[in-house]
Amino acid sequence: MKLTYGISGHVLLNSHDRLNSITEAHLKQWLTETQVQARFGKLPTYVPRLSQVQSDLLAVTIQTDRTSSVAFGNVAKPFVLMSLVKPFLLLFLLARVGREAVFSRVGIEPSDQPFHSIAQLASDRGRPRNPMINSGAIFLASLLPGNTPTSRCESLRYWLNKSAGCDLTLDEEMLASVQPLGNETNRSIANLLKRAGYLNDIDLAIETYNQICCLSGTVVDLARLGLLIALPHPNVSSDDQHIVNSLMMTCGLYEASSQYSMRIGLPIKSGVSGGLIAIVPKVGSIAIYSPAIDEIGNSVGGLFLLEQLVHAHRLSLFQTD
Ligand code: GLU
Repeated sequence: MKLTYGISGHVLLNSHDRLNSITEAHLKQWLTETQVQARFGKLPTYVPRLSQVQSDLLAVTIQTDRTSSVAFGNVAKPFVLMSLVKPFLLLFLLARVGREAVFSRVGIEPSDQPFHSIAQLASDRGRPRNPMINSGAIFLASLLPGNTPTSRCESLRYWLNKSAGCDLTLDEEMLASVQPLGNETNRSIANLLKRAGYLNDIDLAIETYNQICCLSGTVVDLARLGLLIALPHPNVSSDDQHIVNSLMMTCGLYEASSQYSMRIGLPIKSGVSGGLIAIVPKVGSIAIYSPAIDEIGNSVGGLFLLEQLVHAHRLSLFQTD
């Protein structure tokens, strides 16, 4: 290891060495406290199957290249991506249809409103504010190649599995539980998008969005997806990685994004299923699953554990020592 010294003479470790130095024992030491913190969260009730999962599940994986990882907890337990799919939907479309097709119709501004806010979309006159909230992702889902929701979801799933070396599958039972209800808000969002000229077919967009949200994997799959935007990759341009990372930093945790940009200092995305992915650019990814979420929709245990790890191992992008 090449050593670098700070002005005061102490050794400066780079983020690569810092992330690589985390062991299973380090992860284990936060287990009890994370589980205590997770009790302050709740399972989402608006998707019945999400409210039935075991709330004290906890899994974490740190991946620094495609073959080596450190993992701890219920790592084999699959969960649906929900909004965790949003950065990877954006990445796929940037590669597939390009920046102009995407950003001529979806913004890059953060929102201080909830992820499914109709008021926000109405005040923006139907223009989706950013790709990390529902309006942006429902619009982006309409750009996926294919004529049916299934073929569209499949094109995304295939590309992600092939590029990231992961094994996402469609959770049909979760999809069946999402379809009949909880869709009123997303349908209203789609209606507004259509009236503003961003969508043609509401049913196709909503059903595609539901399907991609119900893609399911483990923390290992999620950490591998994270590598798509953390490390150089032949299928992905570094400019597109930069775009996705910066939007995760500014919008990935909804209204809490700027708070956690200061507290953690990494690009992060959450999903209401309790998953969390954090990117250490050029180094690797940290994926956490802890299903109880706060009122904003972010995993309580997940954010707690991530914050402890980042502070203990000085992983923030803004760390100068
Ligand atoms: N499918 C979820 C919804 O639209 C995604 C929300 C999330 O994971 O934050 O409500």
